[in-house]
Amino acid sequence: MLNFSRLTTSGDIVKVYVGEIKKLWYIHEDLLCERSEYFKKAFQGSFKEGQEKEIHLTELDPKAFGQFVDWVYGAPLQTTVPNTGRGKAPSATEFEQAFLFCKIYAAAQYLCMENLQNDAMDMYSSYMQSIEACFNISWYVASAHVEYIYNNTNRPSPMHDFMARLVAKAILRASMTGQWDSVMEQCPAFAIDVVLKIQKLQKRGENDAFDEPRCTFHVHERTAKCSSDQLDVEIATSRRLVQRVRTRY
Ligand SMILES: [Zn+2]
Repeated sequence: MLNFSRLTTSGDIVKVYVGEIKKLWYIHEDLLCERSEYFKKAFQGSFKEGQEKEIHLTELDPKAFGQFVDWVYGAPLQTTVPNTGRGKAPSATEFEQAFLFCKIYAAAQYLCMENLQNDAMDMYSSYMQSIEACFNISWYVASAHVEYIYNNTNRPSPMHDFMARLVAKAILRASMTGQWDSVMEQCPAFAIDVVLKIQKLQKRGENDAFDEPRCTFHVHERTAKCSSDQLDVEIATSRRLVQRVRTRY
């Protein structure tokens, strides 16, 4: 169990450099290693990072890592309610907010942090639902999000499943195929996933991604599955968010 009081007695700090720009964070070693198996191996194993007490993570996104640090220190992931009128297209702000959750998801998988990965999944799913409610755009998902996730996360990944379901439904409902051509060419795995999802949807062998319990898209290899009480709270919170958006327009 996480023991914050140890921080006041050990006080050992490690340096973490993130992204090509080498943005530097100073983080309590005990807390970081308690939260992440990746950092535990790096700083408390026999690697040079353990001797030097610093690590370079050039492949991670600094903005996403900033939210990761807040999360490590106990703050929940932050989001905003989409804020443009019904019927308009989502703006760059909505695009970037949703993209940030994708980047946090990829970073969490890389750092072996299932809880954060699941939180980012939930936030992305809620945000996409609120975009649908706000802009009246069904199953909206940006090709850049898909491309990023497929290029920066390992399979099998529930996020792949989630995105492929949304895109399959968008293609079936609105014949939206053109925007996906280049992503499918670059990510054959994505093309295969979408084709399989279209087949399942046509046979009604799978639910809409938004109708599934949240835990369907979680990873629980090292963590306990969500309890039904937890899921009830999550569903209620998600419905309240969508309702809040709907009542504004
Ligand atoms: Zn779960």
